[in-house]
Amino acid sequence: MSATSHQQAVGRSIEVRGVVQGVGFRPHVARLAARHRIAGEVGNDELSVFIEAEGTAAELDAFVAALTAELPPLAVVLDVRVTERAVLGASGFRIVPSRHRAGARTLVPPDVAVCDDCLAELRDPGDRRYRHAFITCTNCGPRFTIITDLPYDRPATTMRDFPLCRACEAEYADPADRRHHAQPLSCHVCGPRLWWEPTAGPDADSVVLGDDEVLALAQGMLAAGRIVAVKGVGGFHLACDATSESAVRLLRERKRRPHKPLAVMAKDVGTARRVVEVSPAAEAALLQPSRPIVLLPRRDGSPLAATVAGNLDEIGVMLPYAPLHHLLFEPVPGREGPVAPALLVMTSGNLADEPLAFTNDDARARLARIADGFLMHDREIAVPCEDSVVTIQDEAGQAEVPVRRSRGYAPLPVALDHPVVSTGPTVLAVGAEVKNTFCLVREDLAFVSAHIGDMGSLESQVAFGRSVDQLVRLRDAETELVVADLHPGYATRRWAEDYCATLGRPLITVQHHHAHLAALLVDRYRVGTPVLGVTYDGTGYGCDRQIWGGEVLSMGEDLATFERAGHLAPLVLPGGEAAVRNPFRTALALLAAAGAGEDWTPEDVPPAEVALVRSQLASGTGCVTTTSAGRLFDGVAALLGVRQRVGYEAQAAVELEMLARRARRTTPVEMAVADGLVDWRPAVRDIVAGLARGADRGALAKGFHLALAAATAGLVVTEAEHRQVGMVGLTGGVFANRVLTAALRQHLTTAGLEVLTHRRVPCNDAGLALGQAAIGRAIAAREKGVR
Ligand SMILES: [Zn+2]
Ligand SMILES: [Zn+2]
Repeated sequence: MSATSHQQAVGRSIEVRGVVQGVGFRPHVARLAARHRIAGEVGNDELSVFIEAEGTAAELDAFVAALTAELPPLAVVLDVRVTERAVLGASGFRIVPSRHRAGARTLVPPDVAVCDDCLAELRDPGDRRYRHAFITCTNCGPRFTIITDLPYDRPATTMRDFPLCRACEAEYADPADRRHHAQPLSCHVCGPRLWWEPTAGPDADSVVLGDDEVLALAQGMLAAGRIVAVKGVGGFHLACDATSESAVRLLRERKRRPHKPLAVMAKDVGTARRVVEVSPAAEAALLQPSRPIVLLPRRDGSPLAATVAGNLDEIGVMLPYAPLHHLLFEPVPGREGPVAPALLVMTSGNLADEPLAFTNDDARARLARIADGFLMHDREIAVPCEDSVVTIQDEAGQAEVPVRRSRGYAPLPVALDHPVVSTGPTVLAVGAEVKNTFCLVREDLAFVSAHIGDMGSLESQVAFGRSVDQLVRLRDAETELVVADLHPGYATRRWAEDYCATLGRPLITVQHHHAHLAALLVDRYRVGTPVLGVTYDGTGYGCDRQIWGGEVLSMGEDLATFERAGHLAPLVLPGGEAAVRNPFRTALALLAAAGAGEDWTPEDVPPAEVALVRSQLASGTGCVTTTSAGRLFDGVAALLGVRQRVGYEAQAAVELEMLARRARRTTPVEMAVADGLVDWRPAVRDIVAGLARGADRGALAKGFHLALAAATAGLVVTEAEHRQVGMVGLTGGVFANRVLTAALRQHLTTAGLEVLTHRRVPCNDAGLALGQAAIGRAIAAREKGVR
């Protein structure tokens, strides 16, 4: 072919789906078209932008790549579909009017942090929204949390209670205004108000009005070491001075949360730098419109109270995202009072494992014993949404890894691109028991809910049902199939059984780790590619009714079935749940199985308790067998003296990883692989021997991590050869462990295998529902084929 045919024009139809309405996407496309010398047109409907483009193949390739590489701030792209078409000889590039697609529903956008333009007005004494705590525009503000119905118009939001004043109405109607069609728009005249409510004392009934009065009061309380319940975007926060040891202690005591680390809100990036190391990637993550909590390395000599994150070397930090947060940090003009602390603990407004309080009445009922006062407002929250959490992992070739996907991300869908899962019944998958989220699949989009939390309490179950109703209504969906975990004891499974019985819908149950692996494949658009999945987590109900958690699963092209290709050698949990709370029990079981360390005694555990566990192990009474990797980490953590009892899930494992991460040396530890089993017993013996000769505990912790990675890789590489599989997925909560993940990735990549880890949904149980839903679709497709 000649050089001229290389220059020949070709035609392509391009469809970009996602949040592409009202975010400046069409002008963005037009600019890129001009830059890349593309002719044609762009238009949109409820869910997509359509582009008819003509140019040379090279120009079109560059244009398509640029479409998603440089997005307008609030645009979110789910997928881009390109099809070749005939050349029509278009010239120029134009924006054509929107068209309506029958049955299509606009995506509900997630909540977005206040934008720079609005912030500038917030601080401008000459602006009519100077210090307006609810300032917002088309480019920023609450969305998902205030929407009650679709289409997304003001009457379908909780702003319906605030009729626009004339000035606001004029802005709303003006196509040239930044607030044109900004649904949550308001001002001092027509918008919501702040007030202060004390919770105790002689003034308990005296409500304080006046925004600045209220802010000054709240700042004074915080500066004095008191606890303030602040109504935010997705619910209430409990706030206190993060540099005050006594304030943080008081909060922990009243919230009944003695150990779990607390999130911190820093006034700005500069303040955040005093507390944590902020790399360029971390800064970008902190400042993105979703404003998640970012887990970052703690700085030595940080002014934070020691009790904020205990002995952990990482702190969860976020920046202000609501205008109210900015006002809370900034001095109230003309007031002498104390300045608010620049670092605030901002933790979910709830008691221990209960759901987040998000209505004023609920907050009054549940938070009055924790907070000294309420910073209230009258903009209703339609749907609760906790802060999201991410970590930064540069080595995986990407910056951000989700830990909790909630405010700022929910309810953005994940697109299902493989035919096996992209069509079929509308599926509701109810998720797991802890870190619960659920997932609704309609057409080819999977909507993963905001974080619901632990399903142990009745309140959580009520919150769950309410959130399901809301999402089903917003998506105008009729659930046709329900998917739950195989575990007969899960509250979510019982909820699903009741739901299905009431509505007459079929219920499918799916094995826990099967769902984890499916979630990973959907997350990475790899459904249909044969895979070996290393699924390491706490616990999941196995197909053999044992507790699994250290499996290697093999899955072919069909998502509906899997095979257990290997697993950790089983270990014994003396006392089941008691062993989960008391890792020393598991340590004693590991020692007994390995025939080592008969004289090992856990620190600060009464000898009688140790003796009881030993006799339990000898008789097998109350002992549960499991292949859980999480429990193996617990046991080794106890053995290395990291922690004998835990105050929250995975505490011992997290601290063991920290010890390994900080270790300067590695003490070699062995683990064996035979017949599809990873045998950890040699490692236990090595650790006992190491401790006996006074080896460094960190070096042993590191050795354990590397040994598990090497043994797992050994098993996986053998199975991959045997099964002719080239791709390995790492999923389950244990893969939050970066030392293990990095070492395992290294081994597998060196062996020529492709390694998949999560990017869009968490590797922990919060990602489970997505996998359940996809498997539901695959099973439905299979049954249809049989019929
Ligand atoms: Zn704005
Ligand atoms: Zn107004």
